[in-house]
Amino acid sequence: MSPKKAKPVKRKSTKERKPKRKNCGLCMERLMTLDYKDAMRLRKYITERGKIVPRRISGNCARHQRALTDAVKRARVIALLPFSAE
Ligand SMILES: [Zn+2]
Repeated sequence: MSPKKAKPVKRKSTKERKPKRKNCGLCMERLMTLDYKDAMRLRKYITERGKIVPRRISGNCARHQRALTDAVKRARVIALLPFSAE
């Protein structure tokens, strides 16, 4: 006769989930300054709604994310990038 044992539920608690560190694509390119006229590059970091992709998604480092937001905001003012999708 086999004893009825409750199967231990193996569930990873949300606390121990370690997010994989993404590499900053701009650091990889050794790009220290971002040109606000470089709309093709900046376009990679905005959503189709025109929003800036957050750091946790894009994996950018703090320094590059800051440079990126400045560049995107400048590019918006001179109409290289949209403020929002219509
Ligand atoms: Zn970086």
